[in-house]
Amino acid sequence: MSQYVAGVDLGGTNIAAILMDATGRTRGWMTWPTEASGGPDRVIERIIALIKFTMEQNGITEQQLLGIGLGVPGLVNSQEGKSVFSPNLPGWRDIPVAEMVGRGCGVPVIIDNDVRMAAWGEKLLGAGRGWEDVICLTLGTGIGSGIFIQGKMFKGRDESAGEIGHVTVEKDGPRCNCGNFGCLEMYASGRGIARQARETLEQGGSSLLLELAGGDASSITAATVCRAAIQGDPLARQVMEKTALYLGIALAGLANILNPQRIVLGGGVMGAGELLLEPVRRVVRERAMPLNREVEIVAAELGERAGAIGAAALARQEFILGEGRTKWIW
Ligand SMILES: [Zn+2]
Repeated sequence: MSQYVAGVDLGGTNIAAILMDATGRTRGWMTWPTEASGGPDRVIERIIALIKFTMEQNGITEQQLLGIGLGVPGLVNSQEGKSVFSPNLPGWRDIPVAEMVGRGCGVPVIIDNDVRMAAWGEKLLGAGRGWEDVICLTLGTGIGSGIFIQGKMFKGRDESAGEIGHVTVEKDGPRCNCGNFGCLEMYASGRGIARQARETLEQGGSSLLLELAGGDASSITAATVCRAAIQGDPLARQVMEKTALYLGIALAGLANILNPQRIVLGGGVMGAGELLLEPVRRVVRERAMPLNREVEIVAAELGERAGAIGAAALARQEFILGEGRTKWIW
């Protein structure tokens, strides 16, 4: 009888689940709408139902499931299995999500922040596999990261480490949600890229951007900017160059502090591919110290499934391979 774990990626819009066997092979990717407006109880009900449904669809019995990994957005206390606060999930404050999902499915649950789970995915099964000192960034609506030092994830005192998105890259830059000014997130996140494009357009000049956005500047997204840049639009290229500059400055700083082997860049913004990677590598080469600038900067490999795969991979380590030390109180 094969043993399985489930990996779940909880987002503000969708819940994704995947199953993983003892060898690390995945099957049964499935997503459902989160229905976040229903509050924590409703969302947790749906997580449990989605896991059970995915198992059923793949002919896996309850006896075969050994544990669950769950990525939750926002601040998480992974030791206590709690979601401390999640800005995109209404009503989520101090929710004992590991215990609730664990009781519902009859197995132990390991949780962490969703970006960290995606980082685990890349570290164990994606672009970071085989490396010990790796930083995995997710460049999405916001920017987050998972930092691995000697193969272990570094989380800091309050599990708040890795907030690369809120490193200042421009002292007089625009105000960020976090209260600071000129955070990296204001430039290199999906929102940041769209904002830069709109502001540059307002200064005048013609661009393919407006056309691609149906004549409405407010509907420009990072994807629009990428598309225009790929088609050679000068204004979009200028925005991508600036994005790469700020991202490169932040990564050069990280490389100098941590001297990692690899930096893995994922998230929706990486739809830009080499258009972003190439200038980022150039900036890091120009700005980091001689040995530190040798860091390899590569694109993530797991795409939108990284979070669920990472959660499953961590659960596999913990509950099938028995490497974990998590204590279960229920
Ligand atoms: Zn910030």
